[in-house]
Amino acid sequence: MTTLATTALHAADSPRPPRWAEAAERALARCERLARCSERADVLVRRALTPALAEAHALLREWLEAAGLEVRVDALGNLRARLEGASPQTLLIGSHLDTVPDAGKYDGTLGVVLALSLVEAMASEGARLPFSIEVVAFSDEEGVRFGRPFLGARALARGLGPDDLALVDADGVSLAQAIAAFSGIDEADVPAAVAACALRGPASDERADLLAYLELHIEQGPVLESLDLPLGVVTGIAGHVWQSVRFEGRAGHAGTTPMSLRRDALTAAAELALAVEEEALRSPGLVATVGRIVAAPGAHNVIAGAASLELDVRSVDAAVLERGLVAIEAHAESIARRRQLGWRRQLRFEAPSVRCEPGLRALLADAIRAVGVPVHELPSGAGHDGRVIAALAPIVMLFLRSPGGLSHHPDERVHAGDVALAVEVAAEFLRRFAARFAPEVHR
Ligand SMILES: [Zn+2]
Repeated sequence: MTTLATTALHAADSPRPPRWAEAAERALARCERLARCSERADVLVRRALTPALAEAHALLREWLEAAGLEVRVDALGNLRARLEGASPQTLLIGSHLDTVPDAGKYDGTLGVVLALSLVEAMASEGARLPFSIEVVAFSDEEGVRFGRPFLGARALARGLGPDDLALVDADGVSLAQAIAAFSGIDEADVPAAVAACALRGPASDERADLLAYLELHIEQGPVLESLDLPLGVVTGIAGHVWQSVRFEGRAGHAGTTPMSLRRDALTAAAELALAVEEEALRSPGLVATVGRIVAAPGAHNVIAGAASLELDVRSVDAAVLERGLVAIEAHAESIARRRQLGWRRQLRFEAPSVRCEPGLRALLADAIRAVGVPVHELPSGAGHDGRVIAALAPIVMLFLRSPGGLSHHPDERVHAGDVALAVEVAAEFLRRFAARFAPEVHR
């Protein structure tokens, strides 16, 4: 690794052109404005296919059209804005517009707004790109409304099926009904409208038209801040496994049962939680968490007859993830055997890891170096739309430092200086991307 202290100083010492600070100021003002598009007056919450999302669309449409893009909203409520270049082959740039309840102003929204800033910057240079750009604001990344994430991106990837359309929100409204209401179409026409969300081209060759997917997003973690760095190149989106593990022993009297005759399920769960932590500490690239343990019957004077724990394991490296899971399973097995307990596990959620494309990562790293900032690569432990879009095109992501590592919280912040650097880097990336990929585009 480079000497961060000196290089960070170097970055701070080299003044950047004022146009990027102005672009950042505009982007941040837009985030403020979009934060007022909320389902509730007291806190920010903007879920998929709600009037609050439509309000956000109206603002974005105005800004995007002013920048010369052609805007439409697809059936899933993804806002899609195209800027035609010399070729129909498309660079997709975007992020999501939906939020968690009581959200901050930047998770997702900043990436959408910065895609617009980037297009504006290109337009001001009068550059006609050798490919087309589609700015996309995904309508549902967080999965808050229907309990299943990435509905917006999955529609682009033709990944939505009848079971998705049958999902219901807290008010009993199905996804199909929400789509019909949002788009003003008949419910019978929803499946066809959803199919039409897919990226252009027949199912077999979407890749032919999609060059890459670029997303700018806040880090949502403490790494960049701890390194005193404004930006980071994402290596990939971590594979994620969520399991419930249950130990079963025998409940008994806390006073009369000798220690040697106990089959305590709670101490087994506690032991496993420590083993999980140890396993992750000695496995570079692995993060593993036990975030919840529930003991039954759950009284101070009863030895726990059963204990369930929730296990969350993630890594960008599929092999590391697999090795971690195997090791944790071996721990559970040995703990249960030694303590004479039964145990079982249930898979609750699973998503494979996705790599950001090495060539695009290198291009982004070059762009960061070009503005005098040291390059740091880091994995994304959180899921992002790119996880789904990676099935259609190579993906690349730029992280912006999250002050305090804070996200999914109203106090979520970004530094204006970091935002200015992010737009400048993205513009630099786009220039390099155009130069490198133009010959291919015209093949
Ligand atoms: Zn996000």
